[in-house]
Amino acid sequence: MTDCKKIADLIFKDVDKTTEYYENLYPARDLPEGARVTRFAPSPTGYLHFGGLYASFASKLTAESTGGVFMLRIEDTDKKREVEDGVSGIVKGLEAFGVTPDEGVTGFDCENGKYGPYTQSHRREIYRTFAKKLMEEGKAYPCFCTPEDLDEIRAQQENEDIKGYYGSYAKCRDLTDEEIAEKIEKGVPFTVRLRSTGDIQRKIKFDDLIKGKIEMSENVNDVVILKADGIPTYHFAHAVDDHLMRTTHVVRGDEWIASVPLHLELFRALGFKPVKYAHIAPIMKEENGGKRKLSKRKDPEANVSYYIEKGYPEESVKEYMLTILNSNFEDWRRANKTEDITEFPFNLKKMSVSGALFDMVKLNDVSKNVISVMTAEKVYGLVTDWAKEYDKEIYSLFSENPEKAKAILNIDRENPKPRKDIACFDEVRQYVAFFYNSLYTPDFSLPEHINKADAVEILTKYKELYSQSDSKDDWFNKIKGLCTQCGYTPNVKEYKQNPDGFKGHVGDVSTVIRIAVTSRTNTPDLYYIMQILGKDEVLTRIDNAINSYKA
Ligand code: GLU
Repeated sequence: MTDCKKIADLIFKDVDKTTEYYENLYPARDLPEGARVTRFAPSPTGYLHFGGLYASFASKLTAESTGGVFMLRIEDTDKKREVEDGVSGIVKGLEAFGVTPDEGVTGFDCENGKYGPYTQSHRREIYRTFAKKLMEEGKAYPCFCTPEDLDEIRAQQENEDIKGYYGSYAKCRDLTDEEIAEKIEKGVPFTVRLRSTGDIQRKIKFDDLIKGKIEMSENVNDVVILKADGIPTYHFAHAVDDHLMRTTHVVRGDEWIASVPLHLELFRALGFKPVKYAHIAPIMKEENGGKRKLSKRKDPEANVSYYIEKGYPEESVKEYMLTILNSNFEDWRRANKTEDITEFPFNLKKMSVSGALFDMVKLNDVSKNVISVMTAEKVYGLVTDWAKEYDKEIYSLFSENPEKAKAILNIDRENPKPRKDIACFDEVRQYVAFFYNSLYTPDFSLPEHINKADAVEILTKYKELYSQSDSKDDWFNKIKGLCTQCGYTPNVKEYKQNPDGFKGHVGDVSTVIRIAVTSRTNTPDLYYIMQILGKDEVLTRIDNAINSYKA
């Protein structure tokens, strides 16, 4: 009979607190009935993946809609895989799209909340205290197997269904106190393993909030809970942290489903109430008629910073994420056009079991809609903030003359049918280019059916009648008059009935003027464009066009 307490004291000489101490330090949260406490728990081993933002948003909505708390915990137990700026990339990515945690890590070495530290590398003594307790209760033991011993076990298990450290393979499970004490005294490195009570014949059942009822065999492996350097494994840290942080719902990638039997065993061994799980399938992308995971390696849009650099507003990304998070969101949106998304009854149970499909075209459409209903003032503010970092030229043009920029952005906006030209702020440069000579490259090419001589005639006459003080109606009436003078009809229908009777219709005349003034065939309202450009610029551009056609 081993004296577990003695062994635990020998191994955990440094531990001076009890698990009760931590239970009291992190009491049950004072939240309304049904409030859900969720977290995003990334490892800072690379950039923030869109799937991470997506899962965080699901966690945040779950917490928010129930009056709960959403935390950010950094799981940095694998220092070898950690990347520089990993934490700040995560924090910045969440912040950029408004998926800000209520509690937890807020930046490099900064955090807020009463359930911290929220960075695993700062929680070493907490894990050790709980590991000690397990050892005292005979539920954990030290293992002195070397990497070579473990390789040997793996080789022996090549043809076995169940792999790992269990049964007769678990050589250190039944060492005597004397053997253990001797090895410890000699300084033999050791890990700490869970003494599993699982039975492969027995099943565990759990109800995943996304995947539904799941039945799996119990865990039988004596998994490592503390590595040789005293750092916990993910599994052990998950149980300890989510218990002490009083997490109620763990929303995470479905690559962790296979570990649920072990996690439930750990919760039970530690005497914790288990959390509820919601396992999210990876985001998929269509390719060559098939589907594959949105990949860090292949897809630039897998990286959340892509959306920051391109300038997708928070509102667009959230709106888009909701369309793939809950399939009923789009119906809800049609019925509640102006409602804030926080009013949407988000439900984990309505998430895709097999993996939501990511679609850039859809994101752009959603974003165009979202931006089209913003006020010019708001778009101006967002574009300038973005451009400050990502397009210095637009930033200076916009901040030198805010009135002009807002007037440009206001064309065909704040009306029931706003134009939908801009999907992200990176596109603003192209959209506004013809308003700024420093961005504008004239190109007066005409459509095939309009010849240069006719264009010269239209533009020459237009110059004579153009007045900056005309109202929009006056201006349009003048254009109609111009049509008649030049052999075009102001009436499109009339042209269609008698195409041989005219050179063209009012659309063609406007096109000639539009090309002369903007070098484009499709623009927002031409009248307002000319109002913003001003008389001198309009007339200069028309002259340039005339000269180019005459050359
Ligand atoms: N650190 C783990 C990961 O990045 C977290 C999994 C979890 O959410 O529990 O995959």
